[in-house]
Amino acid sequence: MKTQTKEIQENLTAADAHRILEQGNKRFVQNVKAQRDLKSQVFETSAGQYPFAVVLSCIDSRVPAELVFDQGIGDIFSVRVAGNVINNDVLGSMEYACKVAGSKIVVVMGHTKCGAVTSACKRVELGNITELLSKIIPSVDKVHPEKTDLSEEEVEEVAIENVKHSIAAIKANSSILSEMEASGEIEIVGANYSVETGEVTFL
Ligand SMILES: [Zn+2]
Repeated sequence: MKTQTKEIQENLTAADAHRILEQGNKRFVQNVKAQRDLKSQVFETSAGQYPFAVVLSCIDSRVPAELVFDQGIGDIFSVRVAGNVINNDVLGSMEYACKVAGSKIVVVMGHTKCGAVTSACKRVELGNITELLSKIIPSVDKVHPEKTDLSEEEVEEVAIENVKHSIAAIKANSSILSEMEASGEIEIVGANYSVETGEVTFL
């Protein structure tokens, strides 16, 4: 598997970037990971990086974006925060990835059995976690208003809604990214990762 170069990145479309991620996850699920020499990639990327994607995912230890998309050193920008929520620092990171560093796709990837989403559904309040969860509560309220005892299926519905909510927040609060999407320079897509099967489903 080739290391990302300026030339490769420049010739990729948003649709190409989407397909690379889909194919990478397919390899991961089938346990046929691409051959790559990570140590060589460290050397090859030392003078500069040309990642093709930025992925916002949860801090969950079971959801490492590079591994589940079978990517190497220098391939993707990985933004991680519990519950894959949006704040200005996350938006700034995404804007850097696309506008400055040339990435072609923004993925917001939620996952099944998410502790942050489950805690938001239970309206947990604890230290700084309270403010973090307040970014997920609107999705809880949208799917199951005034309910605190959600079933597993209902929690998964909230997780999907939370991804959609993050996508909407990107488009509403980043004119840079929404303009790049409108002009076809980038794609902004949601996804859901199954901790049971390792499969990524694009929404
Ligand atoms: Zn999570």
